[in-house]
Amino acid sequence: LEEQIRSLQASTPRKYPKVKYLNYKNRKRILITGGAGFVGSHLVDDLMIQGHEIIVVDNFFTGRKRNVEHWLGHENFELIHHDIVNPLFIEIDEIYHLASPASPPHYMYNPVKTIKTNTMGTINVLGLAKRVMAKVLIASTSEVYGDPTVHPQPETYWGHVNPIGPRACYDEGKRVSETLSYAYAKQEKVQVRVARIFNTYGPRMHMNDGRVVSNFILQALRNETITVYGNGKQTRSFQYVSDLVDGMIALMASNYTQPVNLGNPVEQSIEEFAQIIKQLVGGPSEIKQTKAMEDDPQRRKPDITRAKTLLKWEPKVPLETGLMKTISYFRNELARSDRFQEN
Ligand code: NAD
Ligand code: UDP
Ligand code: UDP
Repeated sequence: LEEQIRSLQASTPRKYPKVKYLNYKNRKRILITGGAGFVGSHLVDDLMIQGHEIIVVDNFFTGRKRNVEHWLGHENFELIHHDIVNPLFIEIDEIYHLASPASPPHYMYNPVKTIKTNTMGTINVLGLAKRVMAKVLIASTSEVYGDPTVHPQPETYWGHVNPIGPRACYDEGKRVSETLSYAYAKQEKVQVRVARIFNTYGPRMHMNDGRVVSNFILQALRNETITVYGNGKQTRSFQYVSDLVDGMIALMASNYTQPVNLGNPVEQSIEEFAQIIKQLVGGPSEIKQTKAMEDDPQRRKPDITRAKTLLKWEPKVPLETGLMKTISYFRNELARSDRFQEN
């Protein structure tokens, strides 16, 4: 058997994306919690290519091995199956803390677990950062602004969140996550960065994610009715994932410790967004209004002055370009799942 394994390995060398060589002084050991998820896996790609050592910790609630499988076996990469609600003892230089369900159906599926992940999980991450003196970037969210009464939303806005509504487990969970970060910064001198991420889309979004981008694209690709929740007058601003990843890396590298909005300020009503997707995908799908979501934020658009001035960052990918890449990703995913069903 050993002989067989050896000859198999010799005949099929793994091909990895090309990574830069960084010398010992510049190479960091970076932990990415939630690194097998949508955003996390793109962050893994960028930091691997830069030449760092990456450790992904994920419990695979919504993440998938497939998102990072192209790195499995690489000497700079490690994948650990672990739930961040439990303590974690490893040695690292930086942490990107992304572990948390992110789409409303996923975080509402088990609200208690969502709260535990964003409170106990964040405490463990901050405790780890304190012990090894690592810098931490917390993936917070525009949901900390709730259903905002200020438009667009600057970081100085304190938000308008219903503490007992269906979204509270996530919104309040992330608010506590931010509070914990600044408490550890003040009391324990942990270096923290807080990214308030606005709606992000792109390849590797989960098929059953339930968020508007994946729902509308899949409905259009399957010639099904496109479902607008409520009257469709509510707005969102959509950022492509590569822009977000650039922003997160720039924020980590900066000296700025206050929260920073990362999002694309181009705002759309959901009704308009349905039209855009229908047009880009083509096909006969109808657009229909259905029941409104409880506590659905009515307007959302980031004020990105802070990121522009301090990080020299702003989104680059136009909506149509990003959506075309995402549509082609979902088209392949559908073909793949059809092939599985045939077999
Ligand atoms: P995702 O669901 O694809 O990724 C989250 C990852 O965290 C998954 O791999 C999941 O398995 C993992 N995870 C969940 N609970 C865990 C736990 N207890 N222990 C270990 N791993 C756990 O979602 P995403 O869109 O990639 O979001 C990543 C982060 O960015 C989240 O923290 C989310 O709140 C934040 N965010 C995302 C958006 C967006 O539009 N995508 C917007 C705002 C904030
Ligand atoms: N922790 C961890 N990894 C570490 C250090 C700490 O997971 O390397 C956890 C630890 O188990 C604790 C939490 O982080 O539950 C907070 O740590 P802190 O040192 O702040 O608190 P304490 O251990 O004093 O309760
Ligand atoms: N939405 C919709 N149809 C869907 C999914 C979502 O009309 O199939 C709406 C939802 O009510 C919200 C917006 O699209 O107003 C964005 O929803 P999403 O779940 O993507 O993210 P949110 O910003 O609410 O976290």
